[in-house]
Amino acid sequence: MPKKEDLLIENLKKHFGFDKFKGTQEAIIQNILAENDTFVLMPTGGGKSLCYQLPAILMEGTAIVISPLIALMKNQVDAMRNFSEEDGVAHFLNSSLNKAAIEQVKADVVSGKTKLLYVAPESLTKDDNIDFLHHIKVSFYAIDEAHCISEWGHDFRPEYRRIRPIINEIGQRPIIALTATATPKVQHDIQKSLGMLGAMVFKSSFNRENLYYEVRSKTDNVDKDIIKYIKSQQGKSGIVYCLSRKKVEEFAEILRANNINALAYHAGLDASTRAENQDSFLMEKVDVIVATIAFGMGIDKPDVRYVIHYDMPKSLEGYYQETGRAGRDGGEGKCVAFYSYKDLQKLEKFMQGKPVAEQEIGKQLLLETAAYAETALCRRVVLLHYFGEKYNQQNCGNCDNCINPKKLVEAQDLLLTAIEA
Ligand code: ADP
Ligand code: MG
Repeated sequence: MPKKEDLLIENLKKHFGFDKFKGTQEAIIQNILAENDTFVLMPTGGGKSLCYQLPAILMEGTAIVISPLIALMKNQVDAMRNFSEEDGVAHFLNSSLNKAAIEQVKADVVSGKTKLLYVAPESLTKDDNIDFLHHIKVSFYAIDEAHCISEWGHDFRPEYRRIRPIINEIGQRPIIALTATATPKVQHDIQKSLGMLGAMVFKSSFNRENLYYEVRSKTDNVDKDIIKYIKSQQGKSGIVYCLSRKKVEEFAEILRANNINALAYHAGLDASTRAENQDSFLMEKVDVIVATIAFGMGIDKPDVRYVIHYDMPKSLEGYYQETGRAGRDGGEGKCVAFYSYKDLQKLEKFMQGKPVAEQEIGKQLLLETAAYAETALCRRVVLLHYFGEKYNQQNCGNCDNCINPKKLVEAQDLLLTAIEA
């Protein structure tokens, strides 16, 4: 009889076409197959989906996958179908389906051929669906983008809070929660809300060795500074993030006036312009995209060589995600942020009028961003610390503070303040 590991590899090849597992995928899958609660913290692009897709195929019953975005769901289901001989192995259940389609999905689930059923959280709360799911054999529940449970996450969705009570109604089975948001606060929220404080936790490193981090102070000359920087990166692809749509439009215009091939991207543009501009960037008809945070979700351009922050983002989480779009291929990725304390004060002002609890969270996130921008310590150490990760090297050799250490006295003062805080 073949060894268990060989069987997994065989199935990995058969269903997904890959030769080996990435990172901790195999250990995670073994833990799910052993029917334990499992918590997966892995950076974007790490390969989280496979961690539940493969065991779902191998286990008896149907895995319920809860995922927030209809578009994302459809992509995943289509990708799965490509690798499975049989149709109906994966289905999604959400508000975009008509009655007949829903009946087909239900028939496939009942017949046992559907191994993965993707459900949007708002569909999960519907009584009909709960009743239907109560009567089928569930292998396990996978909660993708699990940070949506937490108000400390960047995409809080109240429906996610109802997942655990609904699971209790459908019937208890092991839970696997997955996210790329790894701050200890978010992690705790997720585990508590899902009632899985005893889960096995698999946390990959969030260190991106190939990314160079630099923070410059933002002066009245910021436009010129960025233009100069972009001109020094000729022929390479880059993203410039701004906070407001207005700034995005203005700065894209300024770049074009300076003979830099740049386009704008933000949620206020109509869908076809957005798609066109995104395609131009992906197909390298333009070098630079000037964008709000609306740009980047699910975009996989492997050779973005630099990410510039015209404005500091509202949280280090956002900063990490946005800079993370550089150097996806493991090659050079320069991340240069322009920081002014005044900008953060402005952001704080904008929060007035929001509920007090939300303001408090927002302020805390801004403070952490300021601490990162102002530190004399290794940027990598501070960034990874934010994710609860210890970075042990003395000198990362790939951030401004390690390459050009600030004067010792100044640095020591800052260190003392950091220790006292
Ligand atoms: P995440 O959800 O963690 O952001 P995905 O599940 O979308 O990541 O996977 C990212 C990419 O990695 C996908 O293109 C996927 O096909 C690929 N991938 C996943 N596992 C493997 C593997 N074992 N070998 C090669 N590629 C893989
Ligand atoms: Mg994912």
